[in-house]
Amino acid sequence: MNLTAEDLRRAMQRGEFSFHYQPKVSFLTGRVEGAEALIRWRLPDGSLVPPNDFIPLAESEGMVADLTRHMFPRLLEDLSRVHAERGEDRLAFNISANELDDPGLIHLVQDAIANQRIRGPHLEIEITEGVAVSREEIIVRRLTELLEAGVSLAMDDYGTGFSSLETLSRLPFSALKLDQSFVIRMLNSTKTATMVRTSIAMAQLLGIRSVMEGVETEQAYRMLLHYGCSEAQGYWISPPLALAEYLDFRGRDQAWPCSPIGMLRMAQLTHAWQYKLLVDMLFAYLEDPDTPGSIPRHLHMSHQECALGDWYHGLGQALSGDPDFDSLDRPHRRMHDLCGEMLDATRRQAPRQVIRDLINDLAEQSNALSGSLQRLETRLLFEELQQLA
Ligand code: C2E
Ligand code: MG
Ligand code: MG
Repeated sequence: MNLTAEDLRRAMQRGEFSFHYQPKVSFLTGRVEGAEALIRWRLPDGSLVPPNDFIPLAESEGMVADLTRHMFPRLLEDLSRVHAERGEDRLAFNISANELDDPGLIHLVQDAIANQRIRGPHLEIEITEGVAVSREEIIVRRLTELLEAGVSLAMDDYGTGFSSLETLSRLPFSALKLDQSFVIRMLNSTKTATMVRTSIAMAQLLGIRSVMEGVETEQAYRMLLHYGCSEAQGYWISPPLALAEYLDFRGRDQAWPCSPIGMLRMAQLTHAWQYKLLVDMLFAYLEDPDTPGSIPRHLHMSHQECALGDWYHGLGQALSGDPDFDSLDRPHRRMHDLCGEMLDATRRQAPRQVIRDLINDLAEQSNALSGSLQRLETRLLFEELQQLA
């Protein structure tokens, strides 16, 4: 079919565009957390034109921003129906980075939040295309404004084309969406599986969520379950659904396999990482006491705020009474307290012996935490195996 800009304009006037919603499931809870809105064009004869057939045209005609402006009110209407009838779902919508040049979009989102039509945490923006360096500063400013309003920003199709480490390091993303091509390849390639695992670990250490799209089989879902990825999306869970079908789907309140193992592994990773960062910072201080210590903010948070603490005080409480679960709390709290004490000690230029004692205390806490996490993980793995048998 040979589409023209005029066809797109007419389709907007006739209201032929709508969103289909593809659910995203949390690996930790096995429940739907929200969905991605994917645009659909329904022709008068009832057939559907997929976005890959008209988004590139809209882009080359400079019409994507018009399309987004046209569709955003629709998204808000759908969101309020989902919230009224089902739950606190977060809906994600796609924009190409070029659209950020147009302050109109950011204003639409900001106005919707200011008028209390939505709350920031209910909205995620998936950014699809590369970002030209010349526009970097203004884009970062606009994205930061959205983040401040609570909206989350996901880098879509991570690992392909422009969705690279370079873009990730420059823009304030709060989620990483790995490209679906990795899922298929990871099943047959240990190299790809390693890349998936390290990308998830990288997201964790950057303090952002990771989402795997294109999960088509139970085998892929189960493989990812223990990797520490936050959410899954794909045909095995559900294809994209028209709004009414999505509401039905949510009404069934289905549960998918879930496991705390991935989260426990990520907790081990962050705490070991935090431990090493602190040790490096303290040794740098011992070498030169004039260097003030600094560690990334998201690692220096309260023991209830970090991923482990959030789980421990929330869902994890189902394991309360288990000696390894219970023994996580003390060293965990202490590690977070020590983090603050260490920063404080370097700022007030404490004597070397104080730093030495803090390092030794930290090493002990870290060992205790790792030991409990490891024993708990092994036992939970055996329990999951038994349940599968
Ligand atoms: P995307 O954002 O990466 O969306 C994921 C695409 O993968 C969707 O295709 C979805 O239907 C498809 N998909 C989902 N699960 C599976 C699976 O298990 N296996 C396979 N093979 N595919 C799966 P769709 O809906 O055709 O969208 C294609 C692309 O069009 C999107 O890729 C996105 O970049 C773009 N797009 C969609 N809606 C919009 C929109 O409203 N605005 C803009 N600017 N772009 C959009
Ligand atoms: Mg997307
Ligand atoms: Mg994608």
